[in-house]
Amino acid sequence: MVALAPASRAAALAALPAAELDLLVIGGGITGAGIARDAALRGLSVALLEAVDFAAGTSSRSSKLIHGGVRYLQQGDIGLVREAASERARIRRIAPHLAVPILMVMPTYGRAMHLKLGAGLWSFEKIASVEADERHVMWDRAEALAQEPCLADTGLHGAAAFVEYLTDDARLVFATVAGASAAGALCANHAEVTAVEHGVVTVRDTVGNEAIEARARVVVNAAGPWVEEIWRRSGTRGARGLQLTKGIHLVLDHPRLPLRHAVVMQARDRRSVFAVPRDGITYLGTTDTLFGSPELYPGIETDDVEYLLDAANRTFAGSPLAQRDVLASWAGLRPLLREEGKAPSEISRKDEIATDPATGMISIAGGKLTTYRRMAERVVDLVFARLGRRAPRCTTDEVALPGGESTTLDATTLAKRLPQLTGVEAGRLFRLHGAACERIVARTVEDAAAGEVVAGLAGVLRAEIEHALDEEMALTLEDLLDRRTRSLSFDRQQGLAGVEAAAAIAAARLGWSAARTAAEVQAYRTLAESLRSFA
Ligand SMILES: Cc1cc2nc3c(=O)[nH]c(=O)nc-3n(C[C@H](O)[C@H](O)[C@H](O)COP(=O)(O)OP(=O)(O)OC[C@H]3O[C@@H](n4cnc5c(N)ncnc54)[C@H](O)[C@@H]3O)c2cc1C
Repeated sequence: MVALAPASRAAALAALPAAELDLLVIGGGITGAGIARDAALRGLSVALLEAVDFAAGTSSRSSKLIHGGVRYLQQGDIGLVREAASERARIRRIAPHLAVPILMVMPTYGRAMHLKLGAGLWSFEKIASVEADERHVMWDRAEALAQEPCLADTGLHGAAAFVEYLTDDARLVFATVAGASAAGALCANHAEVTAVEHGVVTVRDTVGNEAIEARARVVVNAAGPWVEEIWRRSGTRGARGLQLTKGIHLVLDHPRLPLRHAVVMQARDRRSVFAVPRDGITYLGTTDTLFGSPELYPGIETDDVEYLLDAANRTFAGSPLAQRDVLASWAGLRPLLREEGKAPSEISRKDEIATDPATGMISIAGGKLTTYRRMAERVVDLVFARLGRRAPRCTTDEVALPGGESTTLDATTLAKRLPQLTGVEAGRLFRLHGAACERIVARTVEDAAAGEVVAGLAGVLRAEIEHALDEEMALTLEDLLDRRTRSLSFDRQQGLAGVEAAAAIAAARLGWSAARTAAEVQAYRTLAESLRSFA
């Protein structure tokens, strides 16, 4: 059975009541997905349950960078620098399409800043053992302006250019869930854990509207911003509460800010923020402000928007950016561990694993996309200890993620096989799917209609939509256009021009009624609108 086919979801939910699970993981973000894959690869019987959709929480709202760890050097955390740098290399090994090296340009203002930054990067590269071809270069003023003509020249001394990796967070989650499923884990989205009591987990299938009970020897709470809510539902007392902080991103048309490279900008409070070009848009991010109770779509305030636009307007030449230039936005919540008296950006990003002595639940919070694999390894080691079994060696740094297998395909060869796509569009498809593009191309060979671009969705083939529905467990229009094709964030019109066409394909495949189809379209339109209007 295809790893993430809708039928595999149905089979997973049907198998749950009788399954003798070693481990049940709550939450299908990168943390839960990573744990499920590692545990399944090490031979445990595992279930992974996600209330909404895989990656629906923070793991589709990040800045989409696999950090080398330069920033941790600024905080003096050498251990984290080494971990981030080695994990970055491992992600590139197991899924090269999801860790694409890009040049990050950091402008310098004044000689002292230029020298200090150069020395900092030199130390970072020593500590992180950065390969020679990925070491930084320092540009003088003329070179900086030639390489990145958008930079404002006022006060500019030069720039440092260093390598960071760009990922697609939601796609990293799907690849990881698909890997977990292929290794035998029972995986289901739209399956909310409503209660946990003495190892009995009550699950609500929100599609079939059914309650299911599962039993597991160990339960891991990887619910990100909702970790505390799971404590409430299970009578667990967490040692330390969560402190959520919100980070927003703004999407601009690329011609409005036509960057060649990602650029580090200094905000008015001296925090570093980014501008990243990607697939015909440029996005700005991110803020770091305290946030209360978790929400799936945290609201974005005008102040947040002005903060990022102001940083861009200080850094770049050209007519000043204004709110009317913002095509779309996304906001995510960092599930950080509470540290009293600290400002949001001072709270540690380190992960923490805690076991409640009364309920036995293992909870994990904090951390980064970048270090998810190591976090998972530590949690799975602990699960083996709890089971009283010797932990086999973790192999998640060796086994390719689905889509990360070696392939002769790349963006250029893909563009030749799919001449209906532009080079940029073929590049987008390859970065989202990697070697799995073969399966999408195969659909276009079998059925000419599948090779057509969906009306209104630039660069999205019907075959890509069919693949998402048949092989990636997309069950709603939002699953499809937000997290699978990424149109909600990266299409210039948020996918709205193609929403009816995409809904028609989904309706035919998933058996939606006319009323359900209309409701899906309306819900998507309302969501897209909310991401363009700020309080
Ligand atoms: C603005 C921002 C920018 C960031 N940028 C970067 C970056 O560039 N690089 C980087 O490495 N890291 C970055 N991070 C950090 C990274 O995104 C997070 O550490 C990571 O995504 C957290 O993943 P998670 O799985 O723990 O949480 P989530 O992704 O939120 O997953 C938790 C899941 O649990 C589910 N859930 C909740 N309740 C239940 C229930 N009752 N039953 C079942 N499931 C449930 C939710 O629906 C959700 O999908 C960023 C974070 C933010 C907020």
